[in-house]
Amino acid sequence: MSQETQENIVAGTHIWVEDQELAFIDGIVVDVVEQEVEIQTSDARTIFTNLSKVYPKDVEAPAGGVDDMTKISYLHEPGVLHNLATRYEINEIYTYTGNILIAVNPFQGLSNLYDAYMMEQYKGAPFGKLRPHVFAIADFAYRTMFNEKKSNSILVSGESGSGKTETTKMLMRYLAYFGGRASAEGRTVEQQVLEDRVTLVVTDVIHCAVVADGIYVRSNPVLEAFGNAKTVKNNNSSRFGKFVEIQFDKQGKISGAAIRTYLLERSRVCQISDPERNYHCFYLLCAAPPEEIERYKLGNPKSFHYLNQSKCYELVGVSDANDYLATRRAMDILGMSKKEQDAIFRVVAAILHLGNIDFAKGDEDSSVIKDNESKFHLKMTAELLMCDPHALEDALCKRVMITREEIIKKSLDPLGATVSRDVLAKTIYSRLFDWLVDKINISIGQDPRSNCLIGILDIYGFESFETNRQIAIYAPHIFPFHLLIGDDDLKLATMKGLARPKKKGSAAKLQLEKFLHFDAHVLTLEFKYIILCSFEQFCINLTNEKLQQHFNQHVFKMEQNEYSKEEIDWSYVEFIDNQDVLDLIEKVIMHFIFSLPVLRKPGGIICSYFAVDLLSIVLHSPEDLKPGGIIALLDEACMFPKSSHETFAQKLYQTFKDHKRFIKPKLTRSDFTIVHYAGEVQYQSDLFLDKNKDYVVPEHQNLLSASNCSFVAALFPLLSEETTKSSKFSSIGSRFKLQLQQLMDTLNSTEPLYIRCVKPNNLLKPALFDNISVMQQLRSGGVLEAIRIKCAGYPTHKTFSEFLDRFSILAPEILKQNYEEKDACKWILEKMELTGYQTGKTKVFLRAGQLAELDARRTVVL
Ligand code: ADP
Ligand code: MG
Repeated sequence: MSQETQENIVAGTHIWVEDQELAFIDGIVVDVVEQEVEIQTSDARTIFTNLSKVYPKDVEAPAGGVDDMTKISYLHEPGVLHNLATRYEINEIYTYTGNILIAVNPFQGLSNLYDAYMMEQYKGAPFGKLRPHVFAIADFAYRTMFNEKKSNSILVSGESGSGKTETTKMLMRYLAYFGGRASAEGRTVEQQVLEDRVTLVVTDVIHCAVVADGIYVRSNPVLEAFGNAKTVKNNNSSRFGKFVEIQFDKQGKISGAAIRTYLLERSRVCQISDPERNYHCFYLLCAAPPEEIERYKLGNPKSFHYLNQSKCYELVGVSDANDYLATRRAMDILGMSKKEQDAIFRVVAAILHLGNIDFAKGDEDSSVIKDNESKFHLKMTAELLMCDPHALEDALCKRVMITREEIIKKSLDPLGATVSRDVLAKTIYSRLFDWLVDKINISIGQDPRSNCLIGILDIYGFESFETNRQIAIYAPHIFPFHLLIGDDDLKLATMKGLARPKKKGSAAKLQLEKFLHFDAHVLTLEFKYIILCSFEQFCINLTNEKLQQHFNQHVFKMEQNEYSKEEIDWSYVEFIDNQDVLDLIEKVIMHFIFSLPVLRKPGGIICSYFAVDLLSIVLHSPEDLKPGGIIALLDEACMFPKSSHETFAQKLYQTFKDHKRFIKPKLTRSDFTIVHYAGEVQYQSDLFLDKNKDYVVPEHQNLLSASNCSFVAALFPLLSEETTKSSKFSSIGSRFKLQLQQLMDTLNSTEPLYIRCVKPNNLLKPALFDNISVMQQLRSGGVLEAIRIKCAGYPTHKTFSEFLDRFSILAPEILKQNYEEKDACKWILEKMELTGYQTGKTKVFLRAGQLAELDARRTVVL
């Protein structure tokens, strides 16, 4: 807090003071002695604290809060938080910060908030004139696209369960509502089909009631059925990221759309933890009409290993049976034939049966199908995938090894065979998902002539949750055992002081390292509870670092650069850039190193540790030869046959020992911690190498490409000799990095709009506002920094000609005179009696609220 503000804090001042539980609590200053303040809090406590923890409170603030953070008189963390909380209490879930929209998840349907009447209200309304709303953002994007022929992207971010997907749906609904209607009634059949499909895919008609056979059912669109699941954070959590690009024609009508998906969570297919669920589609199929259950030999979800690892089978308020029918209908609308639909669900059923195949120890180190039950499931899997059961068994239990001398068939032990089974399940599922996305894209159709688009990004927020909820409890004088403990136990443990939240407000981040005394049993148990993230979270967090940089660059750098370019007065604001984290993760090893023939080892294996060492001797230019980031080192480790996660970790420790964003945690030989913009995250490197290798086991590939079902065979096209040779190694990490770069290129070529979703509590309940958790989200989302900058500066910049196009109507007299553009702009601004704005070399810079004021006057004239 600034010196000046502090000077204003005297006895009698209304203030906010930092508080452990509420983040901030209000009170009145009783006395100030040098740096120490005595405060009477509103919950009748007297506390003494340092002046730096005290913030002035605006007693004049409107009771219902303000709709734009930039209007808050005292702009500081407690002011922003209080404003959001006040508004949330009266169900005002949206608040602006300039043109960034903050959306707090209501966790309840708010009446009429998203109906057609509301959409009509926002149509063409000047931005900021009406209450903040997601429709206002959609309208802004639509108008910029239509009037200025500029492509836009809307970036929706926030942590899991904060409402990103719902927000995305509302944006799409708005765009489909205005962009989908032909002006006259007479829409062509093609238009209708396109509109239906676009609406289906992009708005996910899940919330529109569909009345079929007189029953009220929810429609569960395809992508959600196959890509969403119940997690602890969200009952309908999207387990993939998506970027939907809506293309428009010259008349502003939707002329095509495309979906790009990112990082489907593959591991969920064979591994779930209580109380989460697998992907919805498995439960839907188990609730299909009896004849289909019979055809696929399905039954109770409890009988399938891939589903019964968790005790959660049903979702409150959701009928899987109805959703199954709805998904089928959605597939019809998308133009998927009955034959295709049958094949899709056959594959889903096959995965369930596959998961029930168990293995027992055979001769020596081999494995055999465990028992008759497993044999039945093997037969069913083969039947559904239309492949040979013996070939399936072989593909699961054996591996072909090609050595220089000979080709040998090696048996896998039961554990190896189980791993092989799960890999097969994951591969089939992810190929199926990709097929669905492709099919949807073909079905909607792309408009190659469109040069205006609105892109909407819905991608998972920053992750740092526990990979397993298991806590090893070691009772030295009895025996070691494991205990599963749930959230409630953790809460209890926290209350008893046995556990302590690592970071304030994040219940998931608990570290139990204390001794627990059981009075009754006089037992001392040692708790150890560490939250570790794996490769998937690593990729997700990389995405968020990238997006954060995009946000930073947009809000901060662009503002600053613009001001200095225009030579207008601007005191620079410091901000935290995260380029150093990005370098740590994704810096590339320079290409020329690879191209040196001397460094190529036989068999195409390249080892750049040596490369770097060798070259540094030759070139003496250590700066140029800094090793690559974590992804590059991971790729190297994957290519080097002898490496293990431990050698990989050692390499990381050695390479980044002085990097300030990298930490080697104590007491571990293979974990590493990255200091992300949103906080520290500890990664467990154990599975990094395996998860990064993107290749289908040749036995699995051969088995399925030989399937008698053309659908299944097409999911596994045979690769030509050439491709196999040239793509010996492909890594998920590098491919994702490339995908991400393409996404960033798209985003950089459009005008960005941001929506920051906030999850008000971790219990997913309405009317509960957890200050500490919200504060953390606002901080890590960059919202607070953005507010500061926006307010201090000029949220609106328009080139002189843009400004004149829009506002010369306010001073028609200027057209008669021979003004320079800049002078004409000044004339208008003076005529409108605005103050505080600036005119630079080519642009007009307006203070917050001034654009809205001009727009309002313009509307009057029009
Ligand atoms: P995310 O995509 O960020 O993980 P979702 O968009 O799936 O989160 O939202 C999680 C849940 O929160 C939804 O299933 C819904 O119940 C509720 N929700 C989110 N946004 C809204 C909203 N605007 N109105 C009502 N409920 C909402
Ligand atoms: Mg989602």
